[in-house]
Amino acid sequence: EVRVRFAPSPTGFLHLGGLRTALYNYIFAKRYGGAFILRLEDTDQSRLVPGAAESIEDMLEWAGVPPDESPRRGGPAGPYLQSQRLDLYSQTAQQLVETGHAYYCFCSPQRLELLKKEALRSGQTPRYDNRCRHLRADQVQGKLAQGVAHVIRFRLEAGVEPFEDLVFGWNRHEVAEVEGDPVVIKADGFPTYHLANIVDDHHMKISHVLRGSEWLISTSKHLLMYRALGWTPPTFGHLPLLTNKDGSKLSKRQGDIFIQSFQRDGILPEALLDITTNCGSGFTTNRIGRTIDELISEFNPSKITTHSALLELEKLPEFNRIHLEKRIEKEEHCKLLIQHLREKIQQVYTAELQHEEVLQEDYIKRVLHLRKGHISSLKELVGPGYAFLWVRPSFSSQQVAVLTTEAQLIASLVLKLIEAYGEELTVDRLSKDLKIMAKQTKATKYSDVMKLLRLTLSGLQQGPSVAEMMVSLGPAEAINRFQKLLL
Ligand code: GLU
Repeated sequence: EVRVRFAPSPTGFLHLGGLRTALYNYIFAKRYGGAFILRLEDTDQSRLVPGAAESIEDMLEWAGVPPDESPRRGGPAGPYLQSQRLDLYSQTAQQLVETGHAYYCFCSPQRLELLKKEALRSGQTPRYDNRCRHLRADQVQGKLAQGVAHVIRFRLEAGVEPFEDLVFGWNRHEVAEVEGDPVVIKADGFPTYHLANIVDDHHMKISHVLRGSEWLISTSKHLLMYRALGWTPPTFGHLPLLTNKDGSKLSKRQGDIFIQSFQRDGILPEALLDITTNCGSGFTTNRIGRTIDELISEFNPSKITTHSALLELEKLPEFNRIHLEKRIEKEEHCKLLIQHLREKIQQVYTAELQHEEVLQEDYIKRVLHLRKGHISSLKELVGPGYAFLWVRPSFSSQQVAVLTTEAQLIASLVLKLIEAYGEELTVDRLSKDLKIMAKQTKATKYSDVMKLLRLTLSGLQQGPSVAEMMVSLGPAEAINRFQKLLL
């Protein structure tokens, strides 16, 4: 049975890199009919960020990659919060001590600091010198009885534990040669990542560990622990990192890669999922506009490449535009967009709304359908370029005078045109008819006629076509606005 997990530490909020790891796990699970588990690794108590744990789960739900088992949802392998599983880790550590695979270490922080300094001075990588490995049983008992502060360390055996990574292929990493024995239980009684991670993957029956490639070098160490405990390890697949376009680390400092900020800015979750998989790998072809179902059905793990995935964030508006268009075209999604947009209109234009019709479903729906494919977020529709849709514009007689001396004539021609249509305005037909109509003026160029009509309808110099503006507003409102030219 396929069981995968996303195991973030709630030491920060979910960002694009994390979402991408979660997403690969999710699509892997769904592709193979398995379960996707969210486990929060909150063992570093000093680095916990208040609210992060809740928010990570909220963001996964929002993004459309909800876990099957999680702290909030529960499940057969719970609890899913490591701080609630402390007994399990200390029992396992105890088992390792009893079988000779782990030992108590009483080295003081000062001694460790000194070791580190000496190593750095002589140009070496600092590592623990495994001194407490050699303590006799009676020495250990004595110190424990005295209550000397201690940690538990795992004894790294010499030798390689080769393994085949799903993405990076065969790995042989001689850990004991480069690392000192790692801490598995810290002085505060909490486990380290390395221990907690393998204990949980084992007990939660994780079949595949898909995680960031920064953990690739730790895997050999984890495998030694699996062997020491007599457990069968899961299959590992390390995902190349998501980086900026120039290959540099994704910056969290700018704050612009957090999922919450995208959500706030009106970015659709499917656009985020699409862009984080598009720039990378795992698919035979790259194309914009894949939905989650398409991501699942087109996913091919053997296509995950080892080079880092370059994120082209400047393309996000385009991804959003395409996914927004898809939503507008789906009846049930469109209904939600309408509600959402209506709230925004009310927020932005509270005092100025001049005609209540603009809040009606049919009106907003028509606007959305006419503008889909052009706008990259709903926010745009309440910006200055589209204010004319919700409030009547103002313009000066001076602005009119610059364009034409025939404003009244033009107004009466266009009014006649609309009246002849009845209710059925279409953009195509109107465009043609406006062109023909413009020929009946005497002293005004076609382009100036259009400028005048646009100004009258919207107060703007540019924007959507005049025909589209008229169709959006509807005949009654268009008439209302053109009549101002007759005064
Ligand atoms: N807590 C680790 C992290 O946040 C999990 C790594 C793993 O998936 O094993 O990166």
